[in-house]
Amino acid sequence: MRPQAHQRFVGGKQAGAKGLAFLFIVASLAAVLACCTRLGWARQPRQTAASEVTPAAYPFVDVHTHLDPADIDASVQTALRMMPKENAARILFLASPSTFSMDPKDRFDSELLLSATKKYPGKFGVLGGGGTLNAMIQEAVGSGDAGPAVQKKFKDRAEDIIRQGALGFGEMTAEHFPTSTPYQYAPADHPLFLMLADIAAAHDVPIDLHIEAVPQDMPLPSHLKSPPNPPRLHANIAAFERLLAHNPRAKIIWDHAGWDNTGFRTPELCRRLLQAHANLYMELKLDPQDVEMNPPLVNGASGPIKPEWLKLFEDFPDRFIIGSDQHYPMPNQPGTQRWQEVVLLFNQLPADLRSKFGTGNAAHIYHLDIK
Ligand SMILES: [Zn+2]
Repeated sequence: MRPQAHQRFVGGKQAGAKGLAFLFIVASLAAVLACCTRLGWARQPRQTAASEVTPAAYPFVDVHTHLDPADIDASVQTALRMMPKENAARILFLASPSTFSMDPKDRFDSELLLSATKKYPGKFGVLGGGGTLNAMIQEAVGSGDAGPAVQKKFKDRAEDIIRQGALGFGEMTAEHFPTSTPYQYAPADHPLFLMLADIAAAHDVPIDLHIEAVPQDMPLPSHLKSPPNPPRLHANIAAFERLLAHNPRAKIIWDHAGWDNTGFRTPELCRRLLQAHANLYMELKLDPQDVEMNPPLVNGASGPIKPEWLKLFEDFPDRFIIGSDQHYPMPNQPGTQRWQEVVLLFNQLPADLRSKFGTGNAAHIYHLDIK
């Protein structure tokens, strides 16, 4: 835990003869704080207890969260309880990128998420395919078979997910290091990904894609272990650009800007791809438990927004959304919530960007009716 502001003042209570000095310190701190506020980067107060949180300063859609497959209803209840505390206007649940079997009794995908959330209209949305389409892509990469039979099965399943009421496809993976799921790699221009882009464009729904940035073939970064990761990583940015260019009407959301596991998801790379591809959007994620490379905030997960990131946000105001990657239910410790950390960034944005990143861009991408 980082020290709380009020803890740093405790000594002042017994100041006695040191009262004047204490007052001087307080006045100096107030002056510094006023100055920081004028500069626009004063931090929002941190939570002071496990139950206290800092809500978003403007309503926001969290477009990327996950549920516990072992207890979906309890997870939904937790999210429901947190929405007013977070100032979340809507929460979207994604099927986790699994390689579960296609057997309906094993799989965890849009059917379960939709049935758990349909009682709460206007609160939640669902993206599907993480538990099935993703598994089919992994299987096709492994077998080398992306022939007509595989393509038909894939297309049928994708159409089915949208027919059920999913808002898009996710969480899809093209380069994903193991977490609760195994290591996953697929070329982003694999025939099934290109087909998914066409299906997404036809229905005007987005694809949510997890792809760690690997500009060229490279050894595994030293902070990652092999196994379970492979010793070398495949170049993937050129293939990603071929996917983006394949169907410019397909909206593709690149997950996890601000949480870079290879060192190459820089503001410069984000800028180049946003400039080159008008159908590319990016989700912002910060993880206070796992600060990775190229974080948008000074000191990793605390401090003001770095100028190069703020400039990127200002230059592409219509292309960023909030996708915290929060898991519900949340780990029960203070200071560990991903939604909270990205909200602390969000609250520092200028007001016009807050309204776009919070609700405007998400309403456009997912066709949400948000007042
Ligand atoms: Zn992800």
